Amino acid sequence: MTVHLVGAGPGDPGLLTCRGAELLAQADVVVHDRLASSRLLDLAPRHAVRIDVGKAPGHVAMDQQQINATLVEHGLAGRCVVRLKGGDPFVFGRGGEEAEAAYAAGIPVEVVPGISAANGAAAAAQIALTHRDASSIVSFVAGQCKGLSEQDWSGLTGKGRTLVIYMGLKTAPQIADKLMADGLAPDMPVAVIENAARPQMRVLRGVLAALPEIVSRERVTTPALIVIGEVVARPRQSGDLTTPDQELAALAVEAMQ
Ligand code: SAH
Repeated sequence: MTVHLVGAGPGDPGLLTCRGAELLAQADVVVHDRLASSRLLDLAPRHAVRIDVGKAPGHVAMDQQQINATLVEHGLAGRCVVRLKGGDPFVFGRGGEEAEAAYAAGIPVEVVPGISAANGAAAAAQIALTHRDASSIVSFVAGQCKGLSEQDWSGLTGKGRTLVIYMGLKTAPQIADKLMADGLAPDMPVAVIENAARPQMRVLRGVLAALPEIVSRERVTTPALIVIGEVVARPRQSGDLTTPDQELAALAVEAMQ
């Protein structure tokens, strides 16, 4: 009787940890979000019950309380429960809330880390989040959260720092304004990484002032991450398919005028 909170990584099934795969193979119940790859669920035994708590088109997603109750119910019934979560369970994943629900019910919890979107996206786009010549601080922030406009992000960006924004598509215009109001240069490099570590990945590069236009003109869809900092503009592999096209480069110049 244990609830295992297992990080599934950003989408590529190859990025699941060995421990995660081992636990999936022993699961009686797999409680999962809408996952990028069904190959992960195939790792669970045939008899395992698969419960999709994510939003599927036309179906209502379970709310957090219902998810917690489901984990507790199956845990108390003595089943091996694997709660498979995108990325890492403890990075913007509500894994803390699920663990607390299990603690309160007296159910042992094991947490298996996963590759968070920031790490998966940085690797896939070949952007070093830290670099001795460019950045020694990296921060992860949620672009959608209570009281975004009042939050003080001023120390998190600028020279020598990298900011990674999760869930920032809808609020990209407010984010760009907020950071520039805090004094961040309008030509600070940014990258928007959509569907990182998945076959349909796109990496759009530009500058901070053009961030809202990049998101809207390119019709960027979730899941996507925004990375801001000098590391984004460091040399990259030649023949990189993700170099901004002429249009985006022109857009950046336009936005800075
Ligand atoms: N626990 C997850 C984050 C969940 S919040 C983790 O550690 O990665 C959901 C947000 O994560 C999305 O809105 C998006 O900003 C980011 N995200 C998750 N998977 C992603 C992917 N494959 N590519 C880009 N961003 C991703």
